[in-house]
Amino acid sequence: MTAGSELLGRYARSMVPVFGTPQLVLASGDGCWVTDVDGRRYLDLLSGIAVNALGHAHPALVQAVAKQAEAAIHLSNFFTSEPAIALAERILQIAAAPAGSGVFFTNSGTEAIEAALKLSRRTGRSKIVALEGSFHGRSTGALALTHKAAYREPFEPLLPGVVFVPAGDEQALRDAVDTTTAAVILEPIQGEAGVRELADDYLRLARELTTSTGALLVVDEIQCGIGRTGDWFAHQRSGVVPDAMTLAKGLGGGVPIGALVTFGDRVTGLLEAGQHGTTFGGNPLACAAGLAVLDTIERDDLLEHVVTVGALLDDLDVEGVAATRGRGLMRAIELDGIPAPAAMEAARNAGFIVNAVTPTALRLTPPLVITADELQSFLAALPTILEAAKGAGR
Ligand SMILES: *Cc1c(COP(=O)(O)O)cnc(C)c1O
Repeated sequence: MTAGSELLGRYARSMVPVFGTPQLVLASGDGCWVTDVDGRRYLDLLSGIAVNALGHAHPALVQAVAKQAEAAIHLSNFFTSEPAIALAERILQIAAAPAGSGVFFTNSGTEAIEAALKLSRRTGRSKIVALEGSFHGRSTGALALTHKAAYREPFEPLLPGVVFVPAGDEQALRDAVDTTTAAVILEPIQGEAGVRELADDYLRLARELTTSTGALLVVDEIQCGIGRTGDWFAHQRSGVVPDAMTLAKGLGGGVPIGALVTFGDRVTGLLEAGQHGTTFGGNPLACAAGLAVLDTIERDDLLEHVVTVGALLDDLDVEGVAATRGRGLMRAIELDGIPAPAAMEAARNAGFIVNAVTPTALRLTPPLVITADELQSFLAALPTILEAAKGAGR
C-alpha cells in the first residue's frame, strides 16, 4: 500500500465527504511543481484554483509570512496594523479607485460576496441581478447568486430576490435591471462556467444600466483578478469603473484573504460603523502575504509575463481540441468528443495537474510565474494525453 492510498483511507474515515475522493495526497510544492506523499512530481497548471499566483514556496511570500508571524499574526479589528493599511492602499491604487474608496478584508471569496450583498441591501432595495453560469460561493447568501441548480436547490429557500439572466444577452439585461434593482453582480470572466469571457461592451452596458437605475455594479474578480488575465483586474480593459469589486483567490498567494473594494465615498459610506464585521479579516499575517504577492507581481513584471506566456495557449492546433477560451493565464480547452474527467486523469498520469471545469473542458490557471518552457512541456504532451483519454473513454 502506498502512503497516498493509506492516507486516502484515513481521509474517507475522518472527513465530511463533500469533496468526493481527492485525486492525490500532496506533500509540498516548489515553484510550479508539487510533490505527492509518494514522491511523484507534477507540473501544477491549476495552482489551487487560481490561488498560488507566485507558485509554491516563493521566497518573497515565504519570507514575508515568516517575518510577519514573528511580529504579530492576529490583533483583531479593535486595532489595526500597518500591513492592513498598506495592503488596502495598494489595492485601491492598482484598482485605480477614486478618492473615498475603501477596502473591507475577509478570509475568503464567499465572505467578500456576503459583504457585497450587505452593501447592496443598504441601497434600500433587495433585487439582485446575477448571470446564468455564475459562481459566487457556497454560503446561503452567496449561493443564492450562484446559478448551478445542483449547488443551490438542496439548500433552498435561500436569500430571496435574485434574478438570473443569460450571460452576455444585452436585451435580457436591459429587461431585468430597473429602479428596484439593488445590484448587478457579474464575473468579467466566468470561471466555474468554464472560463467564459463577457464582452467589454456587455460590461459597459451593465455600467450604463446600473448608473441610470441607481443600482450598484459589483464585479466578482475573485478568480479573474490579481493579474491573472495580464491586467490587474479583468474588468479594467473595458474602462468600466464598478461600484464594488470582490477579491480573494490570488490575493494572498495561498494565505486565505479576501476583500470587498468599494468605489467612491457614496458607496463606501453605505456600510456604517457597526454594520458589518469579521474576527480574522484583515489580520496582519494575511495582509503581509497580500502585499508580498502584489509587490512581486509588480517587481517581476508579471502582468507582461502573463500576456506573453499566456499567448502560447491562444490557438491550439491539436487533435481532440475543439476550441480554447479565456485570456492571459485563465484558460479553458474545450475538447472534441473526449470527456474532460478522462483527460484530467490522463494528464495527471503524465505528470500534469489540470482541472475538468465542465464535462467537456479543461481549465488551466497556472501560477503567474510559470515559464514558457514549463507550459510548452504540457503542450508537447497534450496530444498523447488526449489520445490516452480517448482510449480510456471507449
Ligand atoms: C472561488 C470563487 C468564489 C468563492 O470564493 P471562496 O474563497 O471559495 O469562498 C466566488 N466567486 C468566484 C468568481 C470564485 O471563483
